[in-house]
Amino acid sequence: MSERIPTIPIEETGGRLTVDGTALAENYREIAARVAPAQCAAVLKADAYGVGLEPAAATFWRAGARVFFVALPIEGRRLRTALPDATIYVLNGLFEGSEPVFGTHDLRPVLGSVEEIARWEAFCAAQGEALPAAVHVDTGMNRLGLAPAEAIGLADRRNEVGFTLALLLSHLACADEPLHPLTARQLEDFQAIAALFPGVPASLANSAGALGDRALHFDLVRPGIALYGGRARADQLPLRPVVTLELRIAQIRTVHEGEAVGYGAAERVRRLSRVAVLSAGYADGLPRFAGGSDLKRGACVLVAGRRCPLVGRISMDLLAVDITDVPEDDVHAGDFVTALGGGIGVDDWAVHGGTIGYEVLTSLGRRYHRVWRED
Ligand SMILES: *Cc1c(COP(=O)(O)O)cnc(C)c1O
Repeated sequence: MSERIPTIPIEETGGRLTVDGTALAENYREIAARVAPAQCAAVLKADAYGVGLEPAAATFWRAGARVFFVALPIEGRRLRTALPDATIYVLNGLFEGSEPVFGTHDLRPVLGSVEEIARWEAFCAAQGEALPAAVHVDTGMNRLGLAPAEAIGLADRRNEVGFTLALLLSHLACADEPLHPLTARQLEDFQAIAALFPGVPASLANSAGALGDRALHFDLVRPGIALYGGRARADQLPLRPVVTLELRIAQIRTVHEGEAVGYGAAERVRRLSRVAVLSAGYADGLPRFAGGSDLKRGACVLVAGRRCPLVGRISMDLLAVDITDVPEDDVHAGDFVTALGGGIGVDDWAVHGGTIGYEVLTSLGRRYHRVWRED
């Protein structure tokens, strides 16, 4: 089944982005099986890491996911429309004035400060109902969450809090590096805090934690990047790739030895070259730093089955590729080349672009022709 989601007609745009819903579901089932008996949630923030919130939500639901995390109330509201029966947590906390949105759409805030807890308790009191929420405890990342002493304070009045404490949560800072000492320290601190809240489900692991030591799993794991085919740990290959990106060749041109390509004349070709100019650029989420220069090789795309390096800087809407080694009959203006897929992943672009696969995924352009495929 190939499902068209509302999108831009292919003839009006420079690229085709295909999301493999089957791979997405398989990645979910794979992680869920590895962490059982812990439960496996799915993290859908940032438009499901760029692949599309609504179709991703439906796919994970069919694969068995029942608990979901988003970053913002607006994402929670969209997700509630897509999944009426899901448990939805909003990670970034309880923004001032957002309480009614949580109440109306049955969203659970992840409360990350004493002030947020007080605000949720006041809202619950006004509603006359101990509504569910998670509490985030910081164990060393210093981003969101109660300080350990504040968590102890909450534990002391555990039986009289004015909301339902449905989940205790903390977040790992370094689980992608298997030997990083902070992970063991965070685990130890989280175990100690979780022990103060008997009977409350606990959750610590992101993708890297879910694919790591069992001790990190607790009751619920919260994978994001691994579901979407990105690399979660330095010591493991990614699961199945989910995104394919094909870019249109706008023009093919000849460039003479010593001539430069693109802005800043940053890369001069060293031989008589054929260059394909593709109709996509950094405005489509391709990291600008992944271009080529005289000092550094650029990322590669697949042209007629061959890896061809970018040449020169990436522009806003265009980029150039050296196709000199591709037989002339195998490639023509108007053809599509593969920028993601066929062994080229978001992490390859990230390495060349000085960033991480997460950023490449979540930056995927909004002006591609998008196809959601599910067989
Ligand atoms: C983003 C996020 C996750 C998912 O992280 P991945 O590394 O993508 O698996 C889990 N928990 C929290 C709190 C997050 O912010």
